[in-house]
Amino acid sequence: MHYGWIGQSATNSRRAESAASDAASSARKAESAMARLEDLIDRQMLVIRSLLTMCEKKGLFNEPEFRELMNEVDLSDGRLDGKFKPEAAPQNCPSCGKVNGKRAVTCMYCGVPLEGRSIL
Ligand SMILES: [Zn+2]
Repeated sequence: MHYGWIGQSATNSRRAESAASDAASSARKAESAMARLEDLIDRQMLVIRSLLTMCEKKGLFNEPEFRELMNEVDLSDGRLDGKFKPEAAPQNCPSCGKVNGKRAVTCMYCGVPLEGRSIL
């Protein structure tokens, strides 16, 4: 009798389990990175909302003036697209050494603040 297919099936099964484990690990890392991004966005929203509220309370500007200034700042990066994306080089994390995007303020992998980056 020839039972080689049983050994091959076990090998395929181990490979599939390993691939599934790798995929699960990647998914956990992506979820963690997403949670850090959401946290960063929430903190940025707090800074922006606080700043706007302070300016309105002090009578520094009204909403139409603010929207006009937003468009001006939006255009300052070369594109009127509802975003501000100044050019910056990717930066290695001072703690874990991984490369972070040019707009990252904190390391996407370990959360350590990046040198010279600020949400303001
Ligand atoms: Zn890091």
